[in-house]
Amino acid sequence: MDVSRRGFLKLSGLSIAAFATGLGFDPAVAEATGYALKLEGTKKIPSICHFCSGGCGMLLYVKEGKLIHLEGDPDHPTNEGTLCPKAASLLSVANSPDRVTKPKRRAPGADHWEDISWEDALDRVAKKTKEVRDASWKAADEIVNAKTGLKEMFSVNRAEGIAFIGSAEVDNEESYLFTKFCRVIGNPYHEHQARI
Ligand code: SF4
Repeated sequence: MDVSRRGFLKLSGLSIAAFATGLGFDPAVAEATGYALKLEGTKKIPSICHFCSGGCGMLLYVKEGKLIHLEGDPDHPTNEGTLCPKAASLLSVANSPDRVTKPKRRAPGADHWEDISWEDALDRVAKKTKEVRDASWKAADEIVNAKTGLKEMFSVNRAEGIAFIGSAEVDNEESYLFTKFCRVIGNPYHEHQARI
């Protein structure tokens, strides 16, 4: 008998299932039991995949602070339980030893990055933002008056030297906060990757 590779795998699967059923062993029950055992003692956390701007719903299973399993949320209207390969691989991303979990700084002229504290990182970003904002602040600009057609000076109060681009890794709530932050510091140039 000529059997293709795919056909051989199908036949093998059927033979194993038939053999298991013959022994009173139901593979479906075994699979469900394995799934239940794997998730025993975990906390289920509904979340959103933020790999791209699709916003698919995920269920995360966490035990002792570690992500044990994740899957598509069947009740989520966007993906109805499915996940694309990028999201399905997020378990490896979350648990990767290469994952950067501390802020890092490369000093001017240095050839390596060094760990710094969150406090230090926030201080540096705040100081730099203030410095650039002050240096590039524009209080007034010459604009054509729509009524008269003549150029006039109008108050604009904007930070010309700062622009902000949100990445696909930024979710809705973070985008909201970033937008608020940009407005607070007088920065009109803020955009999001999903719109570009
Ligand atoms: S599961 Fe895939 S399609 Fe859905 S948001 Fe994540 S990366 Fe985008």
